[in-house]
Amino acid sequence: MSLYKIKIKVASPLQISDIVIGNVLKQSGIFCLQSSTVRGGILSKIYREQGVEEVIEESKDTSINFHPAYPVDDGIISRPPHILLHKCKICEGGVFINKVLQNKELLKEFNFERFDIPYKCSEGHLFAISPVKSLVIFKDSKYKEINIKKMQLESIGMNRALSQTELGMIYSYITIRPGVIFDGLIYDPKDKIEKLLGYKPKDESVRIGRGISRGMGITEFEFEEVNYEKYIEKRASEIKDVILKTEGIVILRALTPTLSMDKAEFSYKIDLSEYGLQPMEVFNGVNYLTQSPEILKGYSVYTNLPKIEVKGLGSGTLYFYKIENKIKIDEISMLLSEFEIKGFAPPFNVGLNIMEVYTDVGKLL
Ligand SMILES: [Zn+2]
Repeated sequence: MSLYKIKIKVASPLQISDIVIGNVLKQSGIFCLQSSTVRGGILSKIYREQGVEEVIEESKDTSINFHPAYPVDDGIISRPPHILLHKCKICEGGVFINKVLQNKELLKEFNFERFDIPYKCSEGHLFAISPVKSLVIFKDSKYKEINIKKMQLESIGMNRALSQTELGMIYSYITIRPGVIFDGLIYDPKDKIEKLLGYKPKDESVRIGRGISRGMGITEFEFEEVNYEKYIEKRASEIKDVILKTEGIVILRALTPTLSMDKAEFSYKIDLSEYGLQPMEVFNGVNYLTQSPEILKGYSVYTNLPKIEVKGLGSGTLYFYKIENKIKIDEISMLLSEFEIKGFAPPFNVGLNIMEVYTDVGKLL
């Protein structure tokens, strides 16, 4: 069993846009590397370089949990924004935090239907509040939007048959600049990466994103193996402190789209009641506050054909639970910490339902 922290350093412009509208490639607003991108990059590298057929097996019956990788800013790993973070369009005073996350009594009674969305900022600007759209970092109990270094590239469409430029075919891409670093986790319970590669992964050059044939998307993956038990224990103690502070409320923040499978049916519900976590209704009878839905796409590493598309609730969605009285806080903290690594609900290892306990709230209350 292996658990790796990975650092992904962009070495040539990285294009992670996905939809083409007219001559412009539309960029997905959130600049993180989805699980499928990290997975595809590593598995196709092994397939290309080692030619091992077992890679195909892993892409059919997945056992490795590739977490999404988020960009690092100011030395801190960024996170998706959520609906309880706001900003003022006028004063550029940065991100402010909804009072419900700063007051224990409000949090206990929290319900979005009876909820005051702030209508003015601390400077008194009226009706200028908007949701936060970019990734954020949390530092000194404050949130800051990050600004990833990007660059625009122009590319001219070629007519392959005539070997000449196609008139009117100029594409513009927004790419991520070399030097940007992403940070993620890989949980490999069967040590498959090591077996397929023939050695423990260390510093690997991996190609990801679009435009690989044009020299884009070259990245350096740095693997750091961490001790699973120690990692879980440390995280469990952080989680426990927060549960004591919130007096039994657990908030989960989604790092990937969420969509669970219950008896062959898809649902946005993440049911943890068998572990003693009861859903805390916060909006319209459900226990989650969503970010806009995200389409999750995958490409087959060996046929290069797009796979099924599913629509999950976006990363940044918050789920609320209350711990039943009889549950031991030590035990539930360990369990939550393990779920952070393994995923919170099936289907596992496909880039869905990777969430983390929203421990920031412990510093805000
Ligand atoms: Zn303002």
